[in-house]
Amino acid sequence: MGALKMMGRSRMVGLTDLLGLLDRWDEWKKLKAAPDRIDALERELADLRERLGPPDRWPPDVCKACGARALRMRRTFPQPDMRKIMQFWRCEACQVEERRLA
Ligand SMILES: [Zn+2]
Repeated sequence: MGALKMMGRSRMVGLTDLLGLLDRWDEWKKLKAAPDRIDALERELADLRERLGPPDRWPPDVCKACGARALRMRRTFPQPDMRKIMQFWRCEACQVEERRLA
């Protein structure tokens, strides 16, 4: 009776250990996959950068300070020669102001 009880208990402990190992195995698998995932993410980022083009080709509402598409034109002033207009933009996300001569 005493031996059976001990066997039962040791089987329970074994199962708990196994479950713990399985948990760690999942984490280990994720860790092993990390370099591949990082490579994939880097490729994706390079692809996105290429498609976005140089900063002067970004959509006009992209804030160069924080990256949010939250720039809004606030005021415009025609320049003395009347050929160009000074635009004042403000980012609604980070409040940075930007001047553009257009
Ligand atoms: Zn911003």
